[in-house]
Amino acid sequence: MGLHFGAHMSSSKGFVRMFRDTQVIGGNTMQFFVRNPRGGKAKDLNEADMESFRLLLAENDFMPVLAHAPYTMNICSPNIQTRSFGLQMFREDLLRMEYIPGNYYNFHPGCAVGQADDVAISLIADGLNEVLWQEMQTTVLLETMAGKGSEIGKTFGQLRQIIDRTALSDKLGVCLDTCHAWDAGYDIVGDLDGVLSAFDREIGLGRLKAIHLNDSKNPLGSRKDRHACIGEGAIGEQALLRVLRHPLLCELPFFLETPTDDAGHGAEIARLRASL
Ligand code: FE
Ligand code: FE
Ligand code: ZN
Repeated sequence: MGLHFGAHMSSSKGFVRMFRDTQVIGGNTMQFFVRNPRGGKAKDLNEADMESFRLLLAENDFMPVLAHAPYTMNICSPNIQTRSFGLQMFREDLLRMEYIPGNYYNFHPGCAVGQADDVAISLIADGLNEVLWQEMQTTVLLETMAGKGSEIGKTFGQLRQIIDRTALSDKLGVCLDTCHAWDAGYDIVGDLDGVLSAFDREIGLGRLKAIHLNDSKNPLGSRKDRHACIGEGAIGEQALLRVLRHPLLCELPFFLETPTDDAGHGAEIARLRASL
């Protein structure tokens, strides 16, 4: 089957190296952090590396790749410094993404930290309205969240509200994380079709651009966000295979964020492909 797999790769050795490492593990797309996942300064821009990578993408029938924003970026923080630092990183990252046009930038919507969810949702949309621009070539993905702490994005409805309040909403899509959705209470094991029709009703399946394919260490609705390797968690391999095979999902890119290394991701990709 022509499924598209990728894994989270270390970006420390540059884009061309990540591309080669992805080929080794049998992937045809990849995810990476644009900067330190805990936030902070972006690495120096290596234009030659990005240009070579852009050519490799064009020549090799790769799916669009997924840049992941730092976990700590919180554009709805009640602290104005945290918020504006987050927006500064967001803006810088999006400018860099223009070197590799036509790809995805995924971010965790944010944490409300004491504010009402609705206030936080408005701040996220305000932020997006500041950083998106009409001519940009990147699609920004909101990730579905587990609902740990005060995370926004634990329901499809919250993501819909962010999209509704964003002027350039044609720049927005959604990345569904199977571990997060499960932890948030969406029963992808017992009722995948029901979850997908809720997604379609609340957001529209046309917005769904990528899947983070993870098992979960915790039960349905646990709001924990602890990823497990495929088949070693509460979701289980059979349910994840049903996700891969689902006619509404099988054309999407699937990114492994399971707690293992490149070789482990390679083994997971091979096993999943063999089971389809
Ligand atoms: Fe994420
Ligand atoms: Fe994820
Ligand atoms: Zn997670």
